Amino acid sequence: MNKGLFLDRDGVINEEVGYITSIEKFQFKPGIVELISMANWLNYKVIVITNQGGISKGLYTHTDLQIIHDFMLNRLEAFGAKIDQIYYCPHHPEQTRCLCRKPEKLFFERAIHTYQINPKLSFMLGDKQHDLTPAKLLGISTVLVGVQDPMYSADYFFPEISDVLSILV
Ligand SMILES: [Zn+2]
Repeated sequence: MNKGLFLDRDGVINEEVGYITSIEKFQFKPGIVELISMANWLNYKVIVITNQGGISKGLYTHTDLQIIHDFMLNRLEAFGAKIDQIYYCPHHPEQTRCLCRKPEKLFFERAIHTYQINPKLSFMLGDKQHDLTPAKLLGISTVLVGVQDPMYSADYFFPEISDVLSILV
């Protein structure tokens, strides 16, 4: 069984600046490259689960998203950091219902199965409650990063990504 580091994308890997429609808007958050690199070294499977409802809204296409993700993965690779899998939900509740958009658990369950992940040895980093709820239901420890909200509940809260290192080791 493997350990898993689950990551939301917008607001965790890259700065949250509304819909990311092109690489010009994609900027890594401080500390995330080092965190992913360290997770790789510690033998975590690194899994990104992200809601990309902008596709359903017609703001960008699957191809646009692929270009953004290729850019992200290439930049990470240049720094010795690797993401094992990206799961994205292209749907938006204003357009269509689905089982893959967080807070649904589908992508988490798929990753756990595909990568033989033990939830009890795993963490989910998110900046919104909908990132944390499905993880919690599956027994994954939840980590809120960024700005704390009294409506959010998480096992850990860290203002900075770099602070998360302390719980991975
Ligand atoms: Zn979906």
